[in-house]
Amino acid sequence: MLIVLKERNNTSLIHEVQELLKKKYGCPSHIIGENRRVIAVTGDTANVEIELIESIDGVRSVDRVDRPYHLASREQKNRTLITVTKDCVIGDPKNVVVMAGPCSIDSEEQLLETAAMAKERGVKILRGGAYKPRTGPYAFQGHGEKALKMMRRAGEKYSMATISEIMKAEDIDLFEEYVDILQIGARNMQNYELLKAVGKSRKPVMLKRGLAATLEELLLAAEYILAGGNPNVMLCERGIRSFEREVRFTLCLGSVPVLRELTHLPIIVDPSHAMGKTRWVKDVALGAVAVGADGLIIEIHPRPQESRCDSAQLLDREHWNDCMDGITAVAKALKKRVL
Ligand code: PEP
Ligand code: MN
Repeated sequence: MLIVLKERNNTSLIHEVQELLKKKYGCPSHIIGENRRVIAVTGDTANVEIELIESIDGVRSVDRVDRPYHLASREQKNRTLITVTKDCVIGDPKNVVVMAGPCSIDSEEQLLETAAMAKERGVKILRGGAYKPRTGPYAFQGHGEKALKMMRRAGEKYSMATISEIMKAEDIDLFEEYVDILQIGARNMQNYELLKAVGKSRKPVMLKRGLAATLEELLLAAEYILAGGNPNVMLCERGIRSFEREVRFTLCLGSVPVLRELTHLPIIVDPSHAMGKTRWVKDVALGAVAVGADGLIIEIHPRPQESRCDSAQLLDREHWNDCMDGITAVAKALKKRVL
């Protein structure tokens, strides 16, 4: 960490800062340069509160130099490969893994019909919400455990792995039993107790970017899961809230190459929740493949108007086939295969 002071040779300030670093954080520090304006802090600086140092009168700026996440950092390794099943590896640069299914699991028939629609296009991971984080308390909240059991039966019937959103740490045993990938939704990205709980799980986790989270905050949330001992974490860009009202959320496709540089974790894009309208999902899905996403998570439904959740953004059979044709073509141009 480097601390730059406003004035040269301010001996009492240098002393004040160095004492604070030593007493509060146990960090040694050295004054560097002829001007005696830069303090280099060594040792474990993870606990040093940058805001506190910056608030000291006479301090111009503080540069952490090292990023605050270590396990998630690209410096650790090049890529994490998550083996969901032996023929489905997420994070392999040759693969684009598509996860698809309904927004909410409304009934067994609806889930099976939607799973068949996904399976026909070779999808290996079925998505579906059993616990739904709805903006208002009167909206459909999901069928809970009953829906998780339906998910398991649908997965077995079509030989597909499953992904579903977990909202409470107490539900971990239930999810361990019935689903293959744990999804942390955007609204829970900073639910630290939940992150710690899935950190102890053996199941892969897909962590969605919070509605107003920076990429650093997303990576720090991933760090919680990794620090808990679960190495199988993938990130999901699903758009953030901006001043723009024409789209449901503002999708940052640019975060894909940036995350690729910052982390070894696989990167998934969710075009459905970002765009909020069926007719816009395909173009953005294709863009996600073009910028190098490792996978996509897409909401589909045989009859979107019957869905109890997110009807406006679900792909019916026609849009779904068109979307998969496009994804396959873009992947092929990049010498990748769609799983
Ligand atoms: C979802 O994928 O079902 C969902 C609710 O998405 P998000 O958490 O990104 O809003
Ligand atoms: Mn949805």
